[in-house]
Amino acid sequence: MAIDPQFDQNREKAGTHEGHDVWGPVEEPEQLGIHGTHVAVDFDICLADGACLKDCPVDVFEWVDTPGHPESEIKADPANEAQCIDCMLCVDVCPVDAIDVDSGRV
Ligand code: SF4
Repeated sequence: MAIDPQFDQNREKAGTHEGHDVWGPVEEPEQLGIHGTHVAVDFDICLADGACLKDCPVDVFEWVDTPGHPESEIKADPANEAQCIDCMLCVDVCPVDAIDVDSGRV
């Protein structure tokens, strides 16, 4: 299952984390929702492959600890989404399609 590109219409904001939005539902530690809006990572799909951290030319992503999550105990957090230059590399390299990037989504 890939990230829902319409998540901003289909989900509610559940809060914020490190300056970006979190889209619910969130039921920690098993369900963590989607982090970010311009650069969005579905934490419930992310399995901590790390290709996005390696390939992003402007270092948008940072690891965050998510102990107890069934897919992985670290996640690629779009901590610096405002720096994104919309190259789409992260979308292309993510093996589980957990990332969606849309500069029109704020
Ligand atoms: S689209 Fe490019 S610049 Fe933006 S987060 Fe992904 S890899 Fe980084």
